[in-house]
Amino acid sequence: MSVSVHAEIDECPRRWALSAAAYPELWSGRGYPQKLQLATLAGSVVHLALEVITKQLTQAGVPSLNHPLATQVLKELGGYTRVVEECVERILRRFDDNPRALPIVEQARRMLRGQVPTLRARVQSMLARLRLPKAALAARPPEARPATETCRYCGVRQLCDAYWAGAAQAISEDGCFGDIELKITGRHGPTNWDAVVARAHILPAKTPALLRLQQADEFTTGTLVRVLDGALARDPEDDSAPAIITLSARSEAYRVE
Ligand code: SF4
Repeated sequence: MSVSVHAEIDECPRRWALSAAAYPELWSGRGYPQKLQLATLAGSVVHLALEVITKQLTQAGVPSLNHPLATQVLKELGGYTRVVEECVERILRRFDDNPRALPIVEQARRMLRGQVPTLRARVQSMLARLRLPKAALAARPPEARPATETCRYCGVRQLCDAYWAGAAQAISEDGCFGDIELKITGRHGPTNWDAVVARAHILPAKTPALLRLQQADEFTTGTLVRVLDGALARDPEDDSAPAIITLSARSEAYRVE
């Protein structure tokens, strides 16, 4: 559970429960449909446009708008106006299926389209002040800085060898869910595989393990599998019993190629 969800529940458990419940009779989205707040839409567009542009600049290793390659990156994106216009549509698409937003979504579109020149100026002015960390991005690949707090919610930790090489692998406070890299040693059953722990913060390497999948998958002996948020169970009375790692709805498993 993320820190923000925790804080939200703490503030009003009823509000969180009502907001997070499923309402299939209303729509197919998650939780209760949110109201479209006209006042905050422009900010969302600017935020998204900044995200789109800085992501592209970062990928090209461009540290600031003064860099000679910055113009080229912006050209490839179609220019500021195009980015802002696309962001307007992307933001409004989030409300496509939302019955609370439907009555005012066209009004919101007209309003935002009318504001494109202003939004473009805001994006430009904010970008002009931006300095991306040049040295850090110049390295190929950029330096990894594994740390428990930084990596815990990192969406690409399954791809990051530095994360698995160190001791920053995530583990829940109660020790029941965590990230574990396993080496497959053989089939145990239709959806179960024998393995040994390759790397995990709370389990020593070579600890015998049983990987329980939700559906059948094929592995060969020696395959490395990175499990994110796997449910972990151990027999407290028997150190030699295998650690059982079960994939739940919140877990993911990735083969290391
Ligand atoms: S997992 Fe790797 S990429 Fe992600 S924050 Fe940690 S060090 Fe950085």
